[in-house]
Amino acid sequence: MASINDNFLKLKAGYLFPEIGRRVAAYAEANPDKASQLIRCGIGDVTEPLPLAVREAMHKAVDELGCRDTFRGYGPEQGYDFLRKAVADNAYAGLDISADDIFVSDGSKCDTGNILDIFGKGNTIAITDPVYPVYVDTNVMIGNTGEADESGRYEGLVYLECNAENNFVPAIPEEKVDIVYLCYPNNPTGASATREQLQAWVDYALKNDTIILYDAAYEAFIQDPDVPKSIYEIEGAKNCALEFRSFSKNGGFTGVRCGYIVIPETVTGTSSTGEKVAIKKLWSRRTSTKFNGASYPVQRGAEAVYSEEGKKQVQELITHYMGNAKLLREACTEIGLKVFGGENAPYVWVACPEGVTSWDMFDKMLEEANVVITPGSGFGAAGEGYFRISAFNSRANVEEVCRRLKTHLA
Ligand code: PLP
Repeated sequence: MASINDNFLKLKAGYLFPEIGRRVAAYAEANPDKASQLIRCGIGDVTEPLPLAVREAMHKAVDELGCRDTFRGYGPEQGYDFLRKAVADNAYAGLDISADDIFVSDGSKCDTGNILDIFGKGNTIAITDPVYPVYVDTNVMIGNTGEADESGRYEGLVYLECNAENNFVPAIPEEKVDIVYLCYPNNPTGASATREQLQAWVDYALKNDTIILYDAAYEAFIQDPDVPKSIYEIEGAKNCALEFRSFSKNGGFTGVRCGYIVIPETVTGTSSTGEKVAIKKLWSRRTSTKFNGASYPVQRGAEAVYSEEGKKQVQELITHYMGNAKLLREACTEIGLKVFGGENAPYVWVACPEGVTSWDMFDKMLEEANVVITPGSGFGAAGEGYFRISAFNSRANVEEVCRRLKTHLA
């Protein structure tokens, strides 16, 4: 009989979203009259349609595929030059990132998980707590951890606690780690990191030969001009950081699927014989072997995000979602809750009233306000006592959520 990868058995069986689904379904069944009034502010999926410029570019690309003269089959595994160049010229203008450093994919979830293929065994890996769960689970799957304890923390990972005292940006650890995941603007806390905080992390990484895996999936939501949008705005980052970006949240591509990793030539790791090897070379090789590229119409759609019209339309989407975040922040503040995030990110992170747990708050919001939120403890032990409200919604729904918060939770 074929043996399996036992590491999968260590996983906490996708606890958070199934449990939310179970509780919502049970509530809807018991209260059929309320089911149609439920508003979901739980998951981080976009709600607004794809920008027109993106749709037009995709239509055109599909038509090209329908004609013998312009048909394209397999594309370059690392992404078409037109998109790699558009990314380098627009998203990284002035940051000395070349088209060749961009590796196009079908999204950041896969990228942040797949990147582990190229790292060896025995690395000390740090993640924040709370955290985007993909970083943890992919490390579990590949065998980089032991078992989880009762709080859900896995043996072998270094957990960097993020809390109100450190503005949800972790302190630099005393120990040396080989790989650290940082995500700013952050999911779930909605926090952003300052230039000084990121500089401290880059300095630490350079001193300790650490690689920073920087997830900037939400960079487009940054409103404060002093907050860095890319890790490469920080001096020295080109020697120690990879950056993950996605078209999911800025361009509404959650269903279309496109993202990329930036890997400068100068980021290196060490082989078992002590040789320094460029991470870029390994990722390129891995990509050629395991991936046949994102689809052509999708890459044309992503390219259109950087057209003049595309930029305007993306900005409208960002303005819409950030307007929602502002309303949600104000409503929570008005009813006396302590609010974080939501200023440079589409997530509002709210402290539960004294003595109320994340799941108690989830039930209260569901039963009294008919609103689905995400309990903070689902993102890690340090998320206990908080809940996340997503600003990805229609304006009408957000206004209704604010009304219900004031009516039922004041
Ligand atoms: N990184 C973070 C922090 C996210 O919150 C998400 C999606 O919610 C992703 C990556 C995944 O994005 P994609 O849709 O590109 O896979």
